[in-house]
Amino acid sequence: MRMRVSGVNTVLYNTNIFRQKSGENAAFFRYQNLKGASLSRDIFLADTIAFGMKQPVSTHKQFRKLTEDHVIHCIYCKKPMIYAGTLQDMLRRGVFSGSIKDYVAETMPYREYMKRGQQLVFDQIVKYAQKSPQTHLEDIVHFLYQNSIKRLVKTQSKIFKLLIDESKNLPPDMQVRFRKFMKKQHKRLYEIPYQEDFNAENYAYKMNKMIQSIPNPELKEYLLRITTPMYGEDFKNFDNIIPRDVGLQITHSNIDKLHTAKEFSEYVIYRVQKIGERLDRQDIVNLCNTSKRMMEGKPVVIPFSNKEFLRDLANVELAELRPNPVYYNMLAISRRLPSSNRSMSSFVVKHRYSNSDTIGFQLLKPSLTTIEHQKTRTSGGSDALTNCVLACNADNFERGSMPQYVYFRQWNKKNPQVYFNDVIKISKEENLISSSDIEGQANTLAEQGHIKVDISALKK
Ligand SMILES: [Zn+2]
Repeated sequence: MRMRVSGVNTVLYNTNIFRQKSGENAAFFRYQNLKGASLSRDIFLADTIAFGMKQPVSTHKQFRKLTEDHVIHCIYCKKPMIYAGTLQDMLRRGVFSGSIKDYVAETMPYREYMKRGQQLVFDQIVKYAQKSPQTHLEDIVHFLYQNSIKRLVKTQSKIFKLLIDESKNLPPDMQVRFRKFMKKQHKRLYEIPYQEDFNAENYAYKMNKMIQSIPNPELKEYLLRITTPMYGEDFKNFDNIIPRDVGLQITHSNIDKLHTAKEFSEYVIYRVQKIGERLDRQDIVNLCNTSKRMMEGKPVVIPFSNKEFLRDLANVELAELRPNPVYYNMLAISRRLPSSNRSMSSFVVKHRYSNSDTIGFQLLKPSLTTIEHQKTRTSGGSDALTNCVLACNADNFERGSMPQYVYFRQWNKKNPQVYFNDVIKISKEENLISSSDIEGQANTLAEQGHIKVDISALKK
């Protein structure tokens, strides 16, 4: 019997009944597939649903979602990846905020998915789980903090010295500016208070990162909505009058009282801080307090951030130097600064004010599945699946806009083969990825990453 079911296909496709039926009658489906080409799309889809055949992924979301049920290894670091929905589900079920005994029991299977820094922290957590099973993730970070900060500052200051040495090769005018920049970083490193202007965009960026680990979706949505306008041009200058529709994102009753970007920012910070207090989120409350002090022109303590340092150095301080080799030398030295994905001390220090939800979230986040544009969008790469592969969140972030072949320099050239074996297997067993997409991805990899992979298994 042939049903006409347009519109409901994806819903049905996502239910378990249809998921389990895969593989059966494969030959018949291939026949249907051929025949389907000459029929209307609706009828064809109805057929495939009736017989439980799965459609190959066509959107980025479906592509990422493959890692919910299948193990796929990151094309760069070869680590298996976690589907974002799985992590959100753990957050909502309170896996991170409960006792570490339960936390360890549930997340142990993901240990091998974690990056080195996260793995080292996790191993400490496992130790504590045996000694005092009822403690929480945040307690362990507190226990580890004193030793971690000592170790971290020692390593960081060595790298700072190397940077200052290398900066002697900069043009004289840049040397002066660089010294000033490093002075500020030095204060951050040793947590000495200093004066800094409030930057609305920075605030919104940091806040949006913190918001990710809030288990309540409505609250998350609300916080996102009120902080997002701060990315706009109107917030570059505090005296700017804010447009009416931006004000509406906050609340209808207050629209008449908020006129300038400064008033708007103050109001947002006030609202966010109240929520932070209610959720007992010290990290959120701290950021709000610091921001208020900045706005009042008072000195603040801003902890050193590896990521921010690299970003400022590459895109602001030394940007005009490119392609001078000194630029690359200095960036190479800076990349040796311990990041939370590689060093346990860095992870612990970074999360000293975080609550258990954030810590648990951040231990798994670098391993999340993301869509990786092989040819980046900034250099004209398309959104087509043939230009996309799956990579972990940490690598996607670290590569940034670097050409793919440059980023591959630090990885074993055999790693992409592991990724391709994974997707070929899924394509052949369940037809979830079309072979033309896989071929396209391999071609793009040859072009952009300068790496050839063997996809002959696709045709067998
Ligand atoms: Zn990776």
